[in-house]
Amino acid sequence: MLEQTSPAIRVILENALEDRDITPADAARLFRARGRDAAAIIAVADALRRRQVGDRVTYVQTRNINFTNICYTGCAFCAFGLPRQHPNAYAMDIEEVVRRAVEARRWGCTEVCMQGGLNPLLGGDIYVRLVRAIKAAVPDIHIHAFSPFELQYASQIQRRPVREVLLELKEAGLGSIPGTAAEILIPDVRQALTKNKLSAEAWIEIVTTAHEVGLPSTATIMYGHIDGPEHWAAHLAILRDIQRDTGGFTEFVPLGFIYQNTRLYASGRARPGPTGRESALMHAVARIMLGRWIPNIQVSWVKLGLPMAQMLLEAGANDFGGTLHNESISRSAGAETGEYVAPAEFERLILDLGRTPAQRDTTYRILHEGPRYYNPNHPATM
Ligand code: SF4
Repeated sequence: MLEQTSPAIRVILENALEDRDITPADAARLFRARGRDAAAIIAVADALRRRQVGDRVTYVQTRNINFTNICYTGCAFCAFGLPRQHPNAYAMDIEEVVRRAVEARRWGCTEVCMQGGLNPLLGGDIYVRLVRAIKAAVPDIHIHAFSPFELQYASQIQRRPVREVLLELKEAGLGSIPGTAAEILIPDVRQALTKNKLSAEAWIEIVTTAHEVGLPSTATIMYGHIDGPEHWAAHLAILRDIQRDTGGFTEFVPLGFIYQNTRLYASGRARPGPTGRESALMHAVARIMLGRWIPNIQVSWVKLGLPMAQMLLEAGANDFGGTLHNESISRSAGAETGEYVAPAEFERLILDLGRTPAQRDTTYRILHEGPRYYNPNHPATM
């Protein structure tokens, strides 16, 4: 596997294969690799994936509910948040959110994933009211909701510590939080992306506090804009440090920058998203650097498209993410996929790799192993 690899890359990969943590400088070097070196990195990541989590590829049946797109923040990379005067601005009432959650459960979803803009019209208690209303109607659905940005916002406008807000939400029935809004946890990059309205320190503190009060989270990165290998390596090192302390991350989800409709790209500052090589190496290096600590690496089919997402399951990833139903954040930015993938389609793509599909819940408890929906004799019935 490593015969034709350049000496510096080979030493790093040998260390990883001996279960030693690689350094951020090592990771940055891996991110810059090309040709045979890049192929060797992907092969090692795939071998580590097999060793750490086996041949199972998981997915979760979940419905996205983006309950409002009104947002006062105006992050340069975001095409979802709109000012309240915009003709396409919306805010669902709680009854509509509950109706969608009830419908999701009927469809077989085990989770609803809720995120929205920072909408001053809704009040700081909107988050707990949403959780209570959903739990009253669908007690057995897992609520995975509210980015650290939303949690900071709730804490600021209610003038309460984040810990108190999180405890109240947990008491109401919140099950976990998305580790979104991480973007790149490096101040100068954040300044350009979000004017540093949610600082790296605040993101780390909110996620760590969530883990401490018993709310697990995902971990994410948004890459392929004004960033590069050193930023990615430092970002992964921060996530690894948090996980060593709390153990609260369920998975790592690389999110490639969807550029088409964003001000960041229109202003000429950003690249038009990651290349295929960068995406492959993002998943592979994540497996190599984080896999011992965060064993689940997810492909975001919304950002990557299904064929690329399928291929990255052979570059260190082991989770296909969620079926979604109604994802709108990436679609607003210009992603061409995003609304919904049927479980049967996940199963078809996983079986095509010679791997085993498995339906999981939000915290990676296996609910069903093996194909359940895909019938190769009737491939058109998905
Ligand atoms: S990323 Fe979130 S906080 Fe930023 S503008 Fe979009 S919806 Fe608002």
